[in-house]
Amino acid sequence: MLDEDQPEDEAYREPNDEASYVCQSCGEEIVIPIDELAGTDQEYVEDCPVCCRPHVLRVRLDHRFGPSVDARAE
Ligand SMILES: [Zn+2]
Repeated sequence: MLDEDQPEDEAYREPNDEASYVCQSCGEEIVIPIDELAGTDQEYVEDCPVCCRPHVLRVRLDHRFGPSVDARAE
């Protein structure tokens, strides 16, 4: 009797709910959680956790490439 050898690709998906940007002020790479329910094109202000400078983050969700973030110093 053969073992059933089904790939579990469907069940084993990497969580795709965080992204990172480089702080324009201190140069640190900041990892942020992505709220996929907030839409595929998001823009909001967040303070850098390292140097506390505010940044305008533009988050884009792409089903193929995952989330991407552009950061601008405010
Ligand atoms: Zn910073």
